[in-house]
Amino acid sequence: MSRTEREALVDLLSQKGINDIYVLKAIGEVQREKFIPDTMKIHAYRDIALPIGQGQTISQPYTVAFMTQELKLRKGSKVLEIGTGSGYQAAILYKMGVEVYTIERNLKLYHPTLKLFDELGIRVRAKYGDGTLGWAEYAPFDGIIVTAGSPDVPEKLKEQLAVGGKMVIPVGSRTSQKLYVITKETEDKFVTDIIPEFSFVPLIGKEGWDK
Ligand code: SAM
Repeated sequence: MSRTEREALVDLLSQKGINDIYVLKAIGEVQREKFIPDTMKIHAYRDIALPIGQGQTISQPYTVAFMTQELKLRKGSKVLEIGTGSGYQAAILYKMGVEVYTIERNLKLYHPTLKLFDELGIRVRAKYGDGTLGWAEYAPFDGIIVTAGSPDVPEKLKEQLAVGGKMVIPVGSRTSQKLYVITKETEDKFVTDIIPEFSFVPLIGKEGWDK
């Protein structure tokens, strides 16, 4: 896959309003085709979600860029991702110099993605389990990014967000969600901006959907 195709994707995202130069730079560096099944690789640089098996998807590049930008990260920020999936979002965060913690509940995705991280030298801390419960051992996090749609905001994730930190999470029905951008202003004050119409696969877990 040529560098030109990645550059064209970066141009498109910047035309669509992505202006965080660190996000754009990471998208310009990460080879999205590595995170996509062979039969789909030709579509790697289209701005669309693609199937990765197990009924799951790698998110649309615009969505990855937009959610990452909303976290307002710096080098060295500590971020928890729920829904490792293909590993692409984690790779973007890693390229930005972020300390990445990522949780996946589907073992059939988790194992190959761990192997891919290893092959590509992407050093993130990953765990298999229910991400709706967060990862208390490493909390608090400067950012939490939930890459599956939830019926509500899991309490444990609110608790594990650092004061001053931001969480992005799609909230709504099983088929359509709004993106909540939540800032934890003090230990018990949260401010939420709501951005309409995103569509994610369901977040399944104790504080998510049943199945
Ligand atoms: N961030 C991923 C990427 O870059 O490819 C997108 C993955 S996909 C849109 C959402 C993922 O969330 C799926 O892999 C799914 O198995 C996972 N998931 C759903 N509920 C989960 C939960 N409670 N804990 C952890 N992962 C979950």
